[in-house]
Amino acid sequence: MADPVPVTSGKGSYLFSENGNAYLDAISSWWVNLHGHGHPYIAEKIYQQALTLEQVIFAGFTHEPAVRLAERLLPVLPGNFSKIFYSDNGSTSTEVALKMAIQFWWNQGATKRKKILAFKNSYHGDTFGAMSVSDRSVFTLAFHDLFFEVIFIDTPGHSNISALKKLIEDQAETIAAFIYEPLVQGAGGIKIYDAAPMNELLDIVHHSGILCIADEVMTGFGRTGTLFASEQLQVQPDIICLSKGLTGGTMALGITACTEQVYQAYVTDDKLKTFFHGHSFTANPLACTAALASLDLLEKDDCTAAQKMICKMNLSFAEKLQQYRSIKEIRVSGTILAFEISRGKDEYLNQVSATVTSLALQQGVYLRPLGNTVYIMPPYCIAKNELEKIYAVIEKIIDEIG
Ligand SMILES: *Cc1c(COP(=O)(O)O)cnc(C)c1O
Repeated sequence: MADPVPVTSGKGSYLFSENGNAYLDAISSWWVNLHGHGHPYIAEKIYQQALTLEQVIFAGFTHEPAVRLAERLLPVLPGNFSKIFYSDNGSTSTEVALKMAIQFWWNQGATKRKKILAFKNSYHGDTFGAMSVSDRSVFTLAFHDLFFEVIFIDTPGHSNISALKKLIEDQAETIAAFIYEPLVQGAGGIKIYDAAPMNELLDIVHHSGILCIADEVMTGFGRTGTLFASEQLQVQPDIICLSKGLTGGTMALGITACTEQVYQAYVTDDKLKTFFHGHSFTANPLACTAALASLDLLEKDDCTAAQKMICKMNLSFAEKLQQYRSIKEIRVSGTILAFEISRGKDEYLNQVSATVTSLALQQGVYLRPLGNTVYIMPPYCIAKNELEKIYAVIEKIIDEIG
């Protein structure tokens, strides 16, 4: 393991280190940053909010940033959402979604509906519930016998869709919810799957009464070319999870939104049917303010134009990458581009990530492959020449190690 790089500041697409180096942040600091580092507009809004109200308990109290953020998000979310539940990161947003879905059935006395349906190769976070519905991998090995029961299925394709439909129909009565990363499985290796078979799958899930939970923690806020990936699908979710880019990548905040139908299962005088879940920093006013500022910036024409530019340049670069024999599975979803790289000698395979990271850093670009999957997910403030530099460095690395 290389020593961590001491970062002293960030501006726009760049991170600056203690020893005076500048690095283009090609992965948006692990997928969170949308508008660049040290953004003066977001910083100013957070500062003003810090002088006004930095934090308050969110039970029995509410505040303007939380109310405004909910009012602003509800109309743009993909589907018919009516309520926003705040937490403080991506894992809690999915944890809340799972609890919300299971208690939805419990409150109605449908106690058989307890199982969760999830995709193999998925990632929904690192807390226990989130881990349970994520791919069972070496990262979670120590905990496997403590996880709850999950039905794992492959992502749908034309060859397996009939089998998947049958499986869901057979077990529907025991399934509370289906959690999925729409169109792109992020931490599982930037795996992209087709919308058409997914539409068929979601259709059957929806008609079987199973609640659909879209985990858009990574795909949200423009990454896949639309504001939310679910917009590219026909069936809209009952619950949606947001975090990462929600605050433009400046502060920790999580959102779990639900439809009126889900919410109504909790509207009763029976105190036992309350949704008991809260964190100290639930709906932190600074984080909500940062999210509002990020939405202001997202709505600007130059941000839309920049996203379009990234999408377009990614497609041409993907085309260009076809010439390299050492790389495979070149894929693009909007502003995200990924491919697999293999080295000639097998014994070096597990070193690919560290090698690529170190070679890229030497050339002023920050990349962090997931195993053999090299990918970029740049912030929307990136300039054309900066993106070209990232591409050039990637080509050089392929030449060197491919
Ligand atoms: C990152 C991620 C999470 C977890 O978010 P954290 O804020 O890191 O806990 C959950 N789901 C998806 C799809 C993610 O990419």
